[in-house]
Formats: sequence, structure tokens, C-alpha cells
Amino acid sequence: MNVRCQDVLLAGYTTLRLGGPARTFIEASTEDALVEQVRAADEAGEPVLVLGGGSNLVVCDEGFPGTVVRVSTRGVTISNGLVTAQAGEEWDALVARTVAEGLSGIECLSGIPGRVGATPIQNVGAYGQDVSETIAGVRVYDRRERRVRAFTPAECAFTYRHSVFKGDDRYVVLSVSFQLEETGESRPVKYAELARRLGVEPGGAVPLQDARDAVLALRRGKGMVLDPDDPDTRSAGSFFTNPVLTEEELRLLSERAEGFPAFPEPGGRTKTSAAWLIDRAGFAKGHARGPVRLSTKHTLALTNPGPEGTARDLLALAREIREGVREAFGVTLVNEPVFVGLSLEETAGAEGLPG
Ligand SMILES: Cc1cc2nc3c(=O)[nH]c(=O)nc-3n(C[C@H](O)[C@H](O)[C@H](O)COP(=O)(O)OP(=O)(O)OC[C@H]3O[C@@H](n4cnc5c(N)ncnc54)[C@H](O)[C@@H]3O)c2cc1C
Repeated sequence: MNVRCQDVLLAGYTTLRLGGPARTFIEASTEDALVEQVRAADEAGEPVLVLGGGSNLVVCDEGFPGTVVRVSTRGVTISNGLVTAQAGEEWDALVARTVAEGLSGIECLSGIPGRVGATPIQNVGAYGQDVSETIAGVRVYDRRERRVRAFTPAECAFTYRHSVFKGDDRYVVLSVSFQLEETGESRPVKYAELARRLGVEPGGAVPLQDARDAVLALRRGKGMVLDPDDPDTRSAGSFFTNPVLTEEELRLLSERAEGFPAFPEPGGRTKTSAAWLIDRAGFAKGHARGPVRLSTKHTLALTNPGPEGTARDLLALAREIREGVREAFGVTLVNEPVFVGLSLEETAGAEGLPG
């Protein structure tokens, strides 16, 4: 089943409340309809944008000159800790259910907006857990080969906020399977701030519901749980990924800054904190540019708190911050949300052109 409309404003379907009209907007509520609509648009040579909860998207003011297919498929099965959810299931509702059923492995990913199908795309993670740790398989529709395929975790090529699916619109995620543990307890709590809040040493375990409650409380304090009454949550979450530096980049940063957070990564690389760099480059919480601003609770979230903001305004703020950090520290920040019809690069013609 699906619903088809013309000229739907995408601002109504993104958490930033930004984005112009979609030429055609289809809501697909069964897997067959989802595959069929994408296949038909491909055959007609029509550009396709697959939409979940719109919480990791920045869509340009001109909108999308093609077919937007919103994934609203439903269904969850659970057997021996193997949880399989259709792509359109709300992510946090799935986490809440697994916690209630004593299944361990995604409890620290409580409160993240969006739908299940998007979670493998950027290997969603928070508070010491990534979905890559529990994903057992991903079923996709391959638009190039025009067939349904199953990906093993290794084939998904998960890394920090990345996978084979990110930056490539070849695959439509249909369902995701997670292998969870029937322990009733959280996985060892890795994240120091969360461990402190729970009163355990890092590496300790707590009842699943305690872990979920603590994560939700920490996230609310940072404006990272959607709340219609909190303008700081009109965002796409973290706007920039934490930079992962080569040895040479680390050496250059060390010449310019002291005391920056540094976490070892595979391959001799070092991850540092984008929020730290932004803050030390002189952009405080709440820093505004016209109608858009940094969240007043979290330096890493760009927000569109009122009704006047445009995607163009947000892009200008993002560029200002990226340039400021590059000038201060020589590090080029990379956007975490997916841009539709926009680019951070200032190349002629890039801005505002859908593509
Ligand atoms: C307040 C807030 C807090 C956040 N906190 C976190 C966090 O802690 N950690 C984190 O990792 N992220 C976080 N995010 C980002 C976001 O919630 C996640 O990336 C989420 O998984 C996006 O899901 P979505 O359904 O909204 O995807 P959308 O925004 O609709 O889409 C994002 C991308 O995925 C593609 N896509 C969506 N569904 C499918 C599908 N079924 N098949 C193929 N492609 C698809 C879209 O085309 C687009 O490219 C946060 C966002 C907000 C607003």
C-alpha cells in the first residue's frame, strides 16, 4: 500500500524543519510497495530520495526534483535474541521493546530519532555502542541489480559513522536483524560519563532499564531527544563527525592546540572531538547567525529554532564554523547528516542545486 502526493513540503518531514517541495511524495507501508515504487521511479529515470524519519537530512530550500519515498513499513519478529525489524519501524520504540524483553545490546542507543532502516547507513552510535556490534544482517533492494539481497555484517563494511550504504543511493534497506543477548543486563558500560551517572566503574553492567533511563536523561540534558517544546532539538543531531586524524594531522594539531581529547583508532589514527575544536575555535553554545544557531546545550548541534530559518542560512552557519575550525586548527570538519541539493564546498553552482 502507498500514498502518493505532489509538491509536499519536505520541511514537514525533517527534524530540522527545512527543505522545499518534493515533486512526488510516496509513503510506502509494505515492503512490496516500497520495492515497486523505487523500481518504477528508476525505470522512469526519475531521481529517488529514500526518506526515514528525516533526522539525518539537510534538504535544500528548492526541494527535491523527483520522487521521495518515505519508508513506513512495519513489523518486528523476535526469536532467541534475534530481532528482525522492518525498515520503517521507529528506532527508539524498538530499543524500548528490547529493553522491556530483557535483550541486551542496543540499550545505549536509546533516544536516537529516526527509523530502523537508516541505522546501518551511518552505523548509528552513542554512549559507547554502535549498531555494527549487534547487526546480524541487512536485507536491501539493490537498485542497480534490481533484486533483493542479503548483506552479512562484514559486507556492510561498518566503520565510525560509515558503511557501504552511506554516500551511495544504490541500496534501499528493507529490514535489519540484530543479534541481542538474553541477559537482562546491559552490555559492559564503556562510556565514562554514562558509567559515572550509573554509579558503576567503566566495564560494569547494570539492569537494562537503568541504562536506558540514564542515557535518556543524559541525552535530554544535551537537547538530543526530540521534544516539540525544546527548540534546541530542531536539529539533525551532531552536525559534524569527530575527526579521525592521521599521524601527520595529529602532529599538526599538536602544534596548534593543547589538551584536546585524543582516542586511539585502528591503523595508528587518533579520533578527536569536533565539539572541542568548535568550542576552542570561538563558537560557544548558542552562537547564532541570522535565524539559525548552535544549540544552547550542545556545541555540535546546528539548530533551526524558529519559523524563519532556511537551509541556505544553515549552510552559511555550517561553513562559518568549518572555516573557523580550519583556520584555528588546520582540521577540516566533515558533515554527519546527508545533504540533499547542498554542499559545504563553495564551488560555483554547488549551492542550492538539487542532485
Ligand atoms: C536530536 C537528534 C539526535 C541524534 N543523535 C544521534 C546519535 O546519538 N547517534 C547517531 O548516530 N545519530 C544521531 N542522530 C542522527 C539520526 O537520528 C540517525 O542518523 C538516524 O539513524 C537517522 O534515521 P532517519 O530514519 O531519520 O533517517 P533519514 O534522516 O530519513 O535519512 C538519513 C539517510 O539515510 C537514508 N535512508 C533512510 N532510510 C533508508 C532506507 N530504508 N534505505 C536506504 N537509505 C535510507 C536517507 O536517504 C538519507 O541518506 C540524531 C539526530 C537528531 C535529530
